[in-house]
Order: sequence, then structure tokens, then C-alpha cells
Amino acid sequence: MTHDIHIIGGGLAGSEAAWQMAEAGYRVRLSEMRGVEGTPAHKTDDLAELVCSNSFRSDDAESNAVGLLHAELRQMGSLIMACADKHRVPAGSALAVDRDGFSAAVTSAVAGHERIELVRERVDGLPQGPAIIATGPLTASALAQSILAETGEEQLAFFDALAPIVHRDTIDMDVAWFQSRWNKGEGKDYINCPMNKDEYLAFIDALLAGEKTAFKDWEADTPYFDGCMPIEVMAERGVDTLRHGPMKPVGLDDPRTGRWPYAVVQLRQDNALGTLWNIVGFQTKLKHAEQVRVFRTIPGLEKAEFARLGGLHRNTFINSPRLLDGELRLKSAPNIRFAGQITGCEGYIESAAVGLLASRFAAAELAGRTMPRPPVETALGALHNHITGGAEAETFQPMNVNFGLMPPLTGIGRTKKADRKLLYTARAREKLAGWLESAA
Ligand SMILES: Cc1cc2nc3c(=O)[nH]c(=O)nc-3n(C[C@H](O)[C@H](O)[C@H](O)COP(=O)(O)OP(=O)(O)OC[C@H]3O[C@@H](n4cnc5c(N)ncnc54)[C@H](O)[C@@H]3O)c2cc1C
Repeated sequence: MTHDIHIIGGGLAGSEAAWQMAEAGYRVRLSEMRGVEGTPAHKTDDLAELVCSNSFRSDDAESNAVGLLHAELRQMGSLIMACADKHRVPAGSALAVDRDGFSAAVTSAVAGHERIELVRERVDGLPQGPAIIATGPLTASALAQSILAETGEEQLAFFDALAPIVHRDTIDMDVAWFQSRWNKGEGKDYINCPMNKDEYLAFIDALLAGEKTAFKDWEADTPYFDGCMPIEVMAERGVDTLRHGPMKPVGLDDPRTGRWPYAVVQLRQDNALGTLWNIVGFQTKLKHAEQVRVFRTIPGLEKAEFARLGGLHRNTFINSPRLLDGELRLKSAPNIRFAGQITGCEGYIESAAVGLLASRFAAAELAGRTMPRPPVETALGALHNHITGGAEAETFQPMNVNFGLMPPLTGIGRTKKADRKLLYTARAREKLAGWLESAA
């Protein structure tokens, strides 16, 4: 079958994109290498296989950004959401699925579509015609090399050295303070959390004792991103290593004492809106529950809410803010779009969402139209904005959807956190409705 668009990768993003394009009336060639070649994490040949957990996380569309994304995708006719809903298993307020039933349903819908040709093949080069690359965190290496050659980047497969990210409004600014080291740069570049000697020593002990996740065999040869070292590995090298590294106190005057503390934890602004701050140098393999427990011992972060916890696993992703335009097209080769985790979103549902968005942009372009971008106040738009410009290219790292990626609410005065979440989702629903009308 001749095709209008070539989609590479039949995971969460590629399956969603293929089905959306076909439903819009276009003929799709969908290339998926499993069937002829496996990946280190997938176990079946099914499309949209869930490589680890069977959870799509919270399904609460009123007060959770992930649940909101579910609702937006349902409203937009997502195949992934329809199959997830059909194969739901009990999981409280989360959306968890029977993984085999879910993947089988996606495979059957995609492979059985009259306008989709599913080809079991590994693709090594970038296509010449319209294409969507959705090959995910474990993109086969020959294609990764072709992407490197096209983009001029040096490296695509990294350990995700994810530092934890904190919601700014949960930091106790009676304890923490704004200051750049030696007062260089803008005064508000860093938030500093002070530690005395006892607090520091207890913190080092907690890092060393905390339970860690293990590397997988196939992760062994992957380099650390930018030479980032997990914080607990630094702590193992000596009790003062962190105090001479990311927790260095010099040039930082605690306004409560007028002196440099024994050690300092610094947070740096993570998004243009200033709602999210990452803990500088705190990439870690500590288990998530341990991170929450240990990082909340840091003075000023006792009540911290985390938009993302730290992590370290192999991931292939492009520097989207630098390489992609607002329609998810490669600036240097606009016939190529990217979708899914390779764009720097993180998670099953986020990947499907970017797959859906890439296909809508592509379908509009094939029809000679331009689709307006989704409003940043929606979950879909917040994710799109993070990928295509909201995040700094120099420090770009993968991200789950969260309220911190949306513009703060204005004119609401002091409002309880639970009420603020309701306001975020109400605003998102209104904006989505307006966008869907204009994008139709
Ligand atoms: C070990 C591991 C554990 C994870 N655990 C979770 C989790 O618990 N929860 C969560 O939300 N996210 C998890 N993730 C992230 C998860 O991978 C993504 O959320 C999601 O699978 C990404 O969807 P995608 O469509 O972008 O990529 P994928 O679902 O990986 O799909 C990409 C597809 O492209 C194919 N492919 C690759 N290269 C080629 C090529 N050259 N030619 C043809 N086909 C190709 C692959 O075979 C694959 O089927 C995990 C990732 C890893 C690596």
C-alpha cells in the first residue's frame, strides 16, 4: 500500500499516532521492529506494550494533572485511553490495566485498521517523506546514529540523571532564602536551604543507608549525562565530598545568622514560569519513598511536594527545545516529526499524548491547514510547551505532566492547595474547549 505518512515505532506514542492518522483518512505505514528484533525491556511483540508498571497513574481529573491529561485524551478520542478504560483493573483512584488485554486491544485496533499497514521491520535511517519518529527510550542504535547525524548532536542515549523537582510554593521561605553564590548574577537565581553540622552528618548517613534501585545489565555501557554522579555515590567517596561539591556553602550568607552555613542545598529554577525548582546536583538512585523521607529532612523542605523525584535509567531523548519547532517538527528536516518519550516527555500516558498531538499537527499539515497549539493551561498544552520551548535547552531533562508546567493562577489570594488544584483543572477544561473549537 502506498502511504501518506511513515510512523516508526509501535509503542504508546506510535500506536496512538498511527490510529489517529488513519482515522483522519490518511494511509499509514507503521514500522515496528519487535517481531524481528527485540529491545532489552520489552517482552512481547504486541504494540503499546507496558514495559514495567501496569499503571497509568491517577485518574482523578479534578485535582491531579495526570488525571486531567487522561480526561483531555478521552475527549480527543484517544485509542490508548479507550483500550485502557476497556481493560481497567481495580486500583483505587488510579487507572491500572490488564497489561496483556490492553496491548492486545491496541494491536488489534491498529493492525486491523484498513488504512494502516503494520510492517515488522527495523528502520535505520530517517525517511524522506512525511514521518513521525516514535521509537522511545530504547531506540535501536542505527536509527539513533541517523538522528545524531541529522541534528549534529553528540549523544542521544543517556542515563537520565533526574534531579528531584519541588513545587516552589511548598518551600518554607522563612528558613530558605534567595541568593546567588557571592551575589553574582540575578539575586533570585537560587533558593538556598541551610544545614548545620549535625543536620549535614545525619543527612549523609541517611543517603548512605537509603535503599537504592539497581542498574539493569543492558544499562552497563551507557554514560552518565554530563558526567553527573548520583548523590549517594558522591557521599560514599567521603563525608565531605558533598560539602565540597553540590552542597558547598561558600559565598552564601544565611540571613538569619549572617554567616555561611555548614552546608547548603541549592534549588534552581526549572521552568520559565518559576513554579518548579530542581535540587541542584541531587540526581539519585534512591527509591522514591526514600527520597521523600530523606529530602524532607532538609531545612526548608520539610513540607516539600515533589513534581518529580530523582532517578537514573537509560533513556534516549533528543534536545527538543533546541531541535523541534512548535509543531514537533525537526527544524533541520521539517518532514520529520517526533513523538513519545524520545521528545523528552516521561511516562506512558504523556508519550501517548505527544503521539496524539504529533498526529494532529501532521494531519492538519497534510490537509493544507495549520493547527493552533494547545493552550499551556491544559495538561496537553503544558506538556507540549515544556517540550517545545518552556524548558531550558541547556538543562533539558524528561518530565512528567504536572501543574507546575502550567502558568500560576492569578487573582485568587490565599487558597487552600486542594482548592487550587480544582481551579487549575476548571481553567484547563475551559481552555481545552476553546482550543478544540478553534482546532476543528
Ligand atoms: C526499563 C524501563 C521501565 C519503564 N517503566 C515505566 C513505568 O513503569 N511507567 C511509565 O509510565 N513509564 C515507564 N517507562 C517509560 C516508558 O518507556 C514510556 O513511558 C513509554 O513506553 C514510552 O512510549 P513510546 O511510545 O515513546 O516508546 P515505546 O513504548 O518504547 O515504543 C517505542 C517502540 O519503537 C520500537 N523501535 C525502536 N527502535 C526502532 C527502530 N529503529 N525501528 C522500528 N521500531 C523501533 C520499539 O520496539 C518500541 O516498540 C520505562 C522505561 C524503561 C526503559
